[in-house]
Amino acid sequence: MDDVIFQSLDTLINGLNAKQFSSVELTQLYIQRTKAVEPKIGAFLSFDEDKTLKEAQASDKRRAEGASLSELDGIPIGLKDIFAEKGQPLTCASRILEHFISPYDATLVQHLREAGMVLWGRLNMDEFAMGSSSEHSAFKMTHNPWDLTRIPGGSSSGSAAAVAAGEVPVALGTDTGGSIRQPAALCGVVGIKPSYGRVSRYGMVAFASSLDQAGILARRVSGVARILSILCGADPKDATSARKPIPNFLADMQANKGKQWSLGVSDAYFQEGLNPEIRQSVEQAIEFYKNLGYRIVPIQLKTLDYAIPVYYVIASAEASSNLARFDGIRYGYRSPKAQTIDQVFEYSRGEGLGPEVKRRILLGLHVLSSGKYDAYYYDKAQKVRRLIYNDFMDAFKQVDAILAPTTPVPANKQGEKDTPLAMYLSDIYTVSVNLAGLPGMSIPCGFTQDGLPIGLQLIGKPFEESTLLSIAEAFEAGHDYSNCYPLL
Ligand code: GLN
Repeated sequence: MDDVIFQSLDTLINGLNAKQFSSVELTQLYIQRTKAVEPKIGAFLSFDEDKTLKEAQASDKRRAEGASLSELDGIPIGLKDIFAEKGQPLTCASRILEHFISPYDATLVQHLREAGMVLWGRLNMDEFAMGSSSEHSAFKMTHNPWDLTRIPGGSSSGSAAAVAAGEVPVALGTDTGGSIRQPAALCGVVGIKPSYGRVSRYGMVAFASSLDQAGILARRVSGVARILSILCGADPKDATSARKPIPNFLADMQANKGKQWSLGVSDAYFQEGLNPEIRQSVEQAIEFYKNLGYRIVPIQLKTLDYAIPVYYVIASAEASSNLARFDGIRYGYRSPKAQTIDQVFEYSRGEGLGPEVKRRILLGLHVLSSGKYDAYYYDKAQKVRRLIYNDFMDAFKQVDAILAPTTPVPANKQGEKDTPLAMYLSDIYTVSVNLAGLPGMSIPCGFTQDGLPIGLQLIGKPFEESTLLSIAEAFEAGHDYSNCYPLL
């Protein structure tokens, strides 16, 4: 089984084309694998085996008739439990949405269907995507496949763990402040957060609308590139989706092969608090690129120190507004104890939302309240956000992309980060990318002595995902990390 389930999407596509296996057979391998390892990993919140196998059967029928919808037709994919998939549960790992069933498909889910992909399961996450470890899921912990006592990262915890453990070949996640890149790094897989506006947010439950972006986790760079090509594009249902030509990322990567790019490196990412083994791996990556003939350019990112406070003001402000819709009336849970209309709001939210979500809502309401709005939100956070963007744009005058660690430390033990602040600080290298709307990736770049994966972060210019993917692939081609998988 291992021969197939840990293969790249390219190999799976070839296998389907060469009739080595059908989509039903392939899907069954992932279903069996899921059933075998889920007691240890806990990546899924729900799955619907019959529905998934029907989708695989339909794909096989199309193939037999010569009517495949795309190269990806028949390939299984997992969804973070934040994307609406018609007829399936959509919980956002929250009690308040525990029994909610999606009445429609998210635009991205529609794109997956148009490509003929097989939707396998709903993946665990931190509640409403607030968190970095799955410890804030209302339903379960997901365990890091490389060491089951450790966190997988988050909030796209299930997406990263399921790909790493071979339960799905690829998964969708979302990234508001690092939630694709950080779990990808901690689980040793590839993750991409596209530029803000690159893909539609319609049908993806909103956390912080000016920061949220969906993206992809897979075992290889070509895998995320393939899926990104089918997800991109303007959507009349999301006014922030960008009207840009849709690239063929694989073709761009092919055309870019052998190019020697310039990479920016900033001291701001290599300060106190960076784990020495991660530092060493990232420094080795810099050497690797130098040897390929890349130009390594020192850059300044003066405002990076402000990224965490700015992010937690803006993200919480937007969350407090977005989550107002979960009021016990329109969606999901309503407290049976409520007698009056005020009690419907109070008890339903009080019982339905978890502690981290409440903390964000309180923080958000505080910074938006009269008197505080100017002091924190408008006159400070929004203005510093612009400065962070300007800093990146200045750096991009000299370089094609920026290279950095994805996380300051490898996966910690469950329960180790016991204060909210300790958890917020783990986002230090990722949140600025969302604040500036840039594309970012994490790719595997080594292991610690304890056998924990290390992630290398690549940050690009707006809408230049092709460059990022090309630079990432050059690294992957020179290393063997993507062929490593955890022995469960
Ligand atoms: N860990 C960050 C937070 O808790 C980022 C979350 C995300 O990207 N969805 O807000």
